[in-house]
Amino acid sequence: MLKYIHLNIIVIINNIRKTMISEELSYPSDFNAEVKNATEKLYKNVSKIIPEVEWPFHAPLIHEINKLKKEKNIAILTHNYQTPEIFHCVSDIVGDSLKLAYEARDSDADTIIMCGVHFMAETAKILSPEKNVLIPDHRAGCSLSDSITAKDIRLLKERYPGVPVVTYVNTSAEVKAETDVCCTSGNAKHVVESLGTDTVIFLPDEYLAKNIASQTNVKIISWKGRCEVHERFTAKEILSYKEQHENIVVLAHPECSPEVVAVSDFTGSTAGMSNYVKDNQPEKVIMVTECSMSDNVAIENPNVDFVRPCNLCPHMKRISLKKIYDAIRFNQHEIVVEENIINKARLAIDRMLEIGRK
Ligand code: SF4
Repeated sequence: MLKYIHLNIIVIINNIRKTMISEELSYPSDFNAEVKNATEKLYKNVSKIIPEVEWPFHAPLIHEINKLKKEKNIAILTHNYQTPEIFHCVSDIVGDSLKLAYEARDSDADTIIMCGVHFMAETAKILSPEKNVLIPDHRAGCSLSDSITAKDIRLLKERYPGVPVVTYVNTSAEVKAETDVCCTSGNAKHVVESLGTDTVIFLPDEYLAKNIASQTNVKIISWKGRCEVHERFTAKEILSYKEQHENIVVLAHPECSPEVVAVSDFTGSTAGMSNYVKDNQPEKVIMVTECSMSDNVAIENPNVDFVRPCNLCPHMKRISLKKIYDAIRFNQHEIVVEENIINKARLAIDRMLEIGRK
């Protein structure tokens, strides 16, 4: 008898646990009148990209996320490569990685949710260590950032004593901490030339290094890092788009190979490409970069025709509405960086800013 009661208690406890877990893991899914009304305006913005049949799946989560983030004083910061339902419907700030880090620092929010990849969340933490910085999926990495470690930098410094180290922002906090100065794709040439040396170590993007080397007399020692999204584009592919579409304007990210850059009409960072479209309103354009960027810029420039070669960043695509919702309700995944790493990495970022001001 006692054994029977004991077994029953175990079954009941297990059922309670299962109910609690399923409640914890359940997501808002009711596309009711309240949700429909509250999200109607948002849908108008993205209706050219998100089909109407898909909206009832996104809208309940979007509505809940937008309610919760206000209640909890959370700011959602989103990179240009995120999907439109995240970029246009739940984000407070959108932009490239450095803009997001500065906006995180200047925000009044207690918690920052970075809808980007890990190094972006770390950069935000470096600039605002007092804030709670979360990333919805801690596995969201980056092939460039993962290509180099702090130990690699120390070995390079031993091999090339006295040569300054310039590091692209797409690197971990530990790598930044070993660096003399950081740079972005937009200011890389200026940073390299400002150091006043005839040689610099430029890490970790091999293609960005080659593209900068072609514009300067400074000798560049590079690394074998590549962005797995941009390295897939080829000059042959771009030329075939040009043949198919008369008068198309080709905008390429400088993480593309020098061959791709050579057949493009403009090369610039994500912010540079976005501004080019906004300012010039070309009839037809191709953005040689991660494909969600075209979706997001197309929404803001309805008169421009976008041709979209599609290379997705698998790391960026780990972020989803469900994971953002989980980040809010479970306060996950927290970015933790040691204080001494923060202090050293911050110096490298501050030096870049100082160079920009001169
Ligand atoms: S697009 Fe390239 S550089 Fe950007 S996060 Fe993905 S792998 Fe890294």
